[in-house]
Amino acid sequence: MTTVQESHPRVRVVEVNRISDAFLRAELEGSALAGLELPGVPDEACVFYFPLPEGGHDHLGRWYTLRRVTPDATRATIDVLCHDGGVGAGWARRAAVGDELGISRVNSWFRRPADARWQVLIGDAAVLPAIARIVEESPDGLATEVVAELTEGSEQAQGAEIPPMPSGARVRRVSAAPGTSALDEIVRGLELPDGPGYVYVCGEAAATRAARKVLRHERGLRPVDYGVLGYWRRDAERFRKRYEAAPDRFAQAWAEAEAGGGGDEERVLDLYESKLSEAGLI
Ligand SMILES: Cc1cc2nc3c(=O)[nH]c(=O)nc-3n(C[C@H](O)[C@H](O)[C@H](O)COP(=O)(O)OP(=O)(O)OC[C@H]3O[C@@H](n4cnc5c(N)ncnc54)[C@H](O)[C@@H]3O)c2cc1C
Repeated sequence: MTTVQESHPRVRVVEVNRISDAFLRAELEGSALAGLELPGVPDEACVFYFPLPEGGHDHLGRWYTLRRVTPDATRATIDVLCHDGGVGAGWARRAAVGDELGISRVNSWFRRPADARWQVLIGDAAVLPAIARIVEESPDGLATEVVAELTEGSEQAQGAEIPPMPSGARVRRVSAAPGTSALDEIVRGLELPDGPGYVYVCGEAAATRAARKVLRHERGLRPVDYGVLGYWRRDAERFRKRYEAAPDRFAQAWAEAEAGGGGDEERVLDLYESKLSEAGLI
């Protein structure tokens, strides 16, 4: 019998480095990467399936940013946050050369307009690999502010985990109490430069939902002026159970939101979130 994970192409871990207390950096090789036709956008990420301590691979994939990729797409780097709990973080603690990861799907979400004169990149620790690559691949002269929200008292807050930012990026650290995130407060307090620009906010799912509402409804930004993406869930296990128990209810909420959104993607998201929330699904 073919299991789900056996059907995924594999990449091989050829080097591991603990780049800070918080991050494991893994160098991956394999033709499977090129097979995915990477878009080359700096927050591009793939779904990885991690080996389990008891053998085999987890059948649920996790998204990780390709921090670097060779031009021929045969080698890539991922930086994996060693947070508490989780298959991905658990693997990062025992990762070794020779491990094989399943890989499927690639996507990117960063859509900075071509005429942007500035960008503000906001995220928690899991977003730093994407932010670092975005900054590295940004055109000279683009005014860049990075806001890193790091958990107080954790390994993340010790200082070594912010990847070196190329000169020109202004980096601001914001502390979050353990178990909290205030991305909405951060975007509420931003002093945005004049002229065309782009705000990119990623992090914990509930925190990014709140931040998106502020950008759209309080700051009045147009959807093209910002990108917001939930990277992880504080209650991942419970959410997966809720989803697996009733995938149709999520699909129905999405269909209703699309029908009511009138083609406005942000309105569709607003409606979808309120429908899930009313149904107790988020
Ligand atoms: C497009 C995209 C790109 C991403 N890129 C990266 C990346 O480059 N590096 C990276 O480390 N992560 C990245 N993430 C986040 C990563 O996919 C999630 O953190 C994922 O949940 C980790 O899987 P896990 O098996 O460790 O934990 P899960 O099994 O998903 O979650 C178990 C529990 O761990 C806790 N948890 C999960 N994630 C975090 C976190 N980030 N911080 C604190 N606690 C957490 C929660 O309490 C959760 O209930 C990315 C996510 C997306 C959507």
